Amino acid sequence: MAKETLSPNDCRDMLIAVANKIIESEPILTDADRALGDGDHGIGMERGMNAVKEKLEGTDFETADKPFMAMGMAMMSSMGGASGAVFGTLFRTGGKAVGGVDTFGPEQLAAFFTSGTEGVQTRGGAKPGDKTMVDALVPAAEKAEEVKGSSLIDAITAVAAAAEAGKDASKAMIATMGRAKTLGERSIGHPDAGAVSVAIIVATMRDFVAS
Ligand code: ADP
Ligand code: MG
Repeated sequence: MAKETLSPNDCRDMLIAVANKIIESEPILTDADRALGDGDHGIGMERGMNAVKEKLEGTDFETADKPFMAMGMAMMSSMGGASGAVFGTLFRTGGKAVGGVDTFGPEQLAAFFTSGTEGVQTRGGAKPGDKTMVDALVPAAEKAEEVKGSSLIDAITAVAAAAEAGKDASKAMIATMGRAKTLGERSIGHPDAGAVSVAIIVATMRDFVAS
């Protein structure tokens, strides 16, 4: 049976599941960043997710915003670089928008993705079409707003599909940001590594809610 809503500690457990899945996906992320960037995205995310697990495991949370914010802060302080700042911002700014509530449902899911995506864009300056994680996040956030009247499982399922489609759409884009910029048209055909991470993160959230 899918979960109707999540308690603060369910949110913690969902984020630990995300951390484990990203660690397991390190080779996929490394390959994705090797095609376009410097190949360090998998290792950077793995380091961040180990810090996240250290922070979340065995900690009790009173409100749903706190585990997301703790995750963002752990990523910022452990990963460094551009992706530490932007991925950390996703969870810290998105988490703050969840609010000090004791149940996480579709409304909170929409608040997380909308504010988190705005935060990433403000922090990193990437726009849709620049071939970054923003290309998976913007469709995810738009879908989350559209389906916030649905059940949590239907909402997160739709959001995961939107993130996956956004990641796939990034293949056709020409990188204009970061290290991949120098590749120009040679960046076509590969998905952005950060967008691959976003798709994995949202798919793991969906699988957690479904279980
Ligand atoms: P670095 O770019 O420092 O090597 P990573 O390889 O860990 O860091 O992460 C690269 C990913 O981070 C990119 O694929 C992209 O999705 C994301 N990213 C980097 N800079 C930005 C930015 N300014 N705005 C949005 N996303 C960004
Ligand atoms: Mg890199």
